[in-house]
Amino acid sequence: QCIGVPRETFHGEKRVATVPDAVEKLVKLGFKVAVESGAGDAAHCSDDTYRAAGAEVLPSAAALWAASDIVLKVRPPSSDEVALMREGGTLIGFIWPAQNPELVQQLTARKATVLAIDCLPRTLSRAQKMDALTSTAGVSGYRAVIEAANAFGRYFNGQITAAGKVPPAKVFIAGAGVAGLAAIGTAASLGAIVRANDTRAEVADQVKSLGGEFIKVDYEEDGAGGGGYAKVMSEGFQAAQRQMYATQAKDADIIITTALIPGKPAPKLITAEMVQSMKPGSVIVDMAAEQGGNCELTVPGEAVERHGVTIIGYTDLPSRLAKQSSTLYANNLLRLVEELCKAKDGVAVVNMEDDAIRGLTVTKDGAITWPAPPLKAA
Ligand code: NAD
Repeated sequence: QCIGVPRETFHGEKRVATVPDAVEKLVKLGFKVAVESGAGDAAHCSDDTYRAAGAEVLPSAAALWAASDIVLKVRPPSSDEVALMREGGTLIGFIWPAQNPELVQQLTARKATVLAIDCLPRTLSRAQKMDALTSTAGVSGYRAVIEAANAFGRYFNGQITAAGKVPPAKVFIAGAGVAGLAAIGTAASLGAIVRANDTRAEVADQVKSLGGEFIKVDYEEDGAGGGGYAKVMSEGFQAAQRQMYATQAKDADIIITTALIPGKPAPKLITAEMVQSMKPGSVIVDMAAEQGGNCELTVPGEAVERHGVTIIGYTDLPSRLAKQSSTLYANNLLRLVEELCKAKDGVAVVNMEDDAIRGLTVTKDGAITWPAPPLKAA
């Protein structure tokens, strides 16, 4: 079979679904690999490097989609891309079926088999190697700190120099899931004083192990909502949390927010008043911008200044570190393809008896198979 990788068409997207190192391994599994010319340019993977790894470079999207039994993508395909897809073809990438019901319908009309990497059952330990949500969130958390550092007018680390004493920056991280923990580790490694909060008490030790201090809300309620995710908290908790966040906002130089609740708008944790109370020159990076934002003043996709505070609401953080994101994503997809091709004969088999594969499969030969039944207890 031929695995094809088109150039991403979403405006400004710099990532690519596979990189030359992964191409070599796909070829060893027995697949032919085709890459659309220019697909990796923005991630610094040239056509020549793909050719050297064993791929054929095709001149256009139409040629690429027509040649491919299996297409690897980053972003969900546009209607134009679906129209180019081979009837009965396979598509692997981010799909977000709950948010994109029309896309799922269009794909079924093409009799497609679609594996949505965002639907991976993340709690299965053998699925971790394929977990692109985790690798993407890790890149985003790192980049959020870099964006903050870029907008901040001072050092992160404290210094005593002949020119004077510089205090370390204080960074507060709201939400210590995968992205928040990556941000904690990055900010701590730059020398900042890092504090973090999450509604799930279980993350406190992870925060500490990365060099942060866990700040608890003074209210007895745990936020674990099942599957490792958070739930919506009670009014009482929210009031106590606002009080604590108001204190932290006054003290912090940088706030990075990452709080999300599956299927719900992002909780509003940083009010306009809190922003107003921050020191001039402070920075907020709102990683929940796409889901409505954790800060009341965030403008999704933009960096704005309000009350002397820079509020960054970029929704393309992984794309801003395109080479790193693409490399990790390519590895996640390679591991998935290995699972689909255990015989190493260049043919992918979607085994619906396998929990991990079943979870990913959104449509199979044109029939909708999403959502997958809950995992059987181990
Ligand atoms: P996420 O992106 O849905 O949420 C980010 C964080 O925001 C979470 O830690 C959540 O608790 C927190 N949050 C939500 N509401 C909040 C509020 N009001 N105030 C403060 N914090 C709030 O989560 P995620 O990063 O994708 O991962 C969540 C969990 O899933 C983590 O514990 C992670 O370790 C786990 N996970 C497990 C596996 C696995 O078992 N293999 C794989 C990946 C992730």
